[in-house]
Amino acid sequence: MIIDNRPVGAVDGGRLEVVNPATGQVVTTIPAATEADVDAAVASAKNAFDGWKRTPAVVRARLLNEIADAVETHGEELARIDAIDNGTPISMLRNDIRLATTQLRYFAGLALELRGQSIPPPAGGLNYTVHEPFGVVGRIVPFNHPMMFAATKIAAPLVAGNTVVLKPSEHTSLSALRIGELCAEILPPGVVNVVTGLGATVGARLTTHPDVTRIAFTGSVQTGLGIQRQAATERVKTVTLELGGKNPLLVFPDADLDAAVAGAIRGMNFTWQGQSCGSTSRVYVHRSLWHEFLDRLKVGVEKLQIGDPQNDKTDVGAIVCRSQYDRVVRFIEAGTADPRARLIAGGDVEGPDAGLFVRPTVFAFDEGDCDSPLLHEEIFGPVLSVLPFDEYDEVIARANRLPLGLTASVWTTELSTAMRATRDLEAGYVWVNTSSIHIPGAPFGGFKNSGVGREEGVEELYSYTQQKNVYIQFERGGGSH
Ligand code: NAD
Repeated sequence: MIIDNRPVGAVDGGRLEVVNPATGQVVTTIPAATEADVDAAVASAKNAFDGWKRTPAVVRARLLNEIADAVETHGEELARIDAIDNGTPISMLRNDIRLATTQLRYFAGLALELRGQSIPPPAGGLNYTVHEPFGVVGRIVPFNHPMMFAATKIAAPLVAGNTVVLKPSEHTSLSALRIGELCAEILPPGVVNVVTGLGATVGARLTTHPDVTRIAFTGSVQTGLGIQRQAATERVKTVTLELGGKNPLLVFPDADLDAAVAGAIRGMNFTWQGQSCGSTSRVYVHRSLWHEFLDRLKVGVEKLQIGDPQNDKTDVGAIVCRSQYDRVVRFIEAGTADPRARLIAGGDVEGPDAGLFVRPTVFAFDEGDCDSPLLHEEIFGPVLSVLPFDEYDEVIARANRLPLGLTASVWTTELSTAMRATRDLEAGYVWVNTSSIHIPGAPFGGFKNSGVGREEGVEELYSYTQQKNVYIQFERGGGSH
């Protein structure tokens, strides 16, 4: 772990095994931090806060740009680490390096945009606002984009003047540890600390710690609900949550069919083994296109090359860990056993002895929506469900019926259909005639149980600050409106 810019183990010597999901081999171990280790990291971050807060914003930005440069310089190394630790194909992870450096530089560039306001005061007075950092930020991230989240989720809090304790997933901590080492060469001690270990120990202590006043969590809805409860146990905290989705993709009768099929495959993020929160895992296709769409989808999905994450030509790698693999297999078994679900592609799994590989899988529900868990639950695996629809109002109601609302994708060449659907869909990020893409600077986050707050845009930077209002009476006799 990295605490106070020093590499340290857990105080009790505890370690967790790191398993390569593509081979089943134990490649190394990482510290399994105790609550005392979290306390040490928080103490270090608290100690560093005053100095960092007073560091001029342009200097903080310059140091963040140096982190971006370091990530770029070590990009291939970081991508290789994640390929071993997480199982995603190397070509995708190289893309994450590009996204990470873009995002770091974007937030560095915003450093001078943290502006307050002046508000018309009474005579002889001046009233203005400033944005001040909270202090120690607890940043808890999931397993699916390990390096990218470790690098980019520290950017906004640091630019805003906070110090950070980062907790990566216990399944994928190696690249976060490497990012911590790189940060230690650039930042003053304590500004970024990386603590590894189990969520129930490290994550729980970080969220309840009285000196961590701002929590930002990315992960599952279930853990997010627990974080909100935990965060409120000892003091009032500001909490933002980026959670899961079961996101709809709608193909209207006038859609460009080839583009929509390609968009559905890209939207499902099969190249991340379906392990991406924004994945459009429920595809609704107008009945006039139903058979043609399924035929083309099957061809496209079956072209994807599954195999060694280290191979440049691999499209689909391994599922991150055994528990996640078992979960995905359970959903596929439920679909295969369900007479309402027709298997279109995949469905067969390898391993676990041969590595945690699951072939991209598509089920068609010819009769439409039903109570299948494949249609209600976020699987977070390479499993896509496709359903027919007849009417606009019907498909919008079905798209909106879950208590989740992260993303949605609409395929149509009719402007009015696109405009109505973007208005009517209950989701935080809506694409028209595209899918999956995040635009740098555009706010990402969920409606309903998919989250609280927005990230990746200027809103994220402001979310790491609290507003202070200052009223100065500089001339006697003023003071009232
Ligand atoms: P998870 O909720 O199991 O774990 C996420 C993190 O929380 C891990 O670091 C884990 O150790 C920690 N954690 C676990 N229990 C905790 C506790 N009691 N207190 C504090 N921390 C705890 O999620 P995961 O399986 O790693 O990731 C997959 C989920 O993340 C999916 O639901 C996915 O949709 C979601 N996700 C959302 C976004 C988004 O931007 N909305 C992005 C990526 C992933």
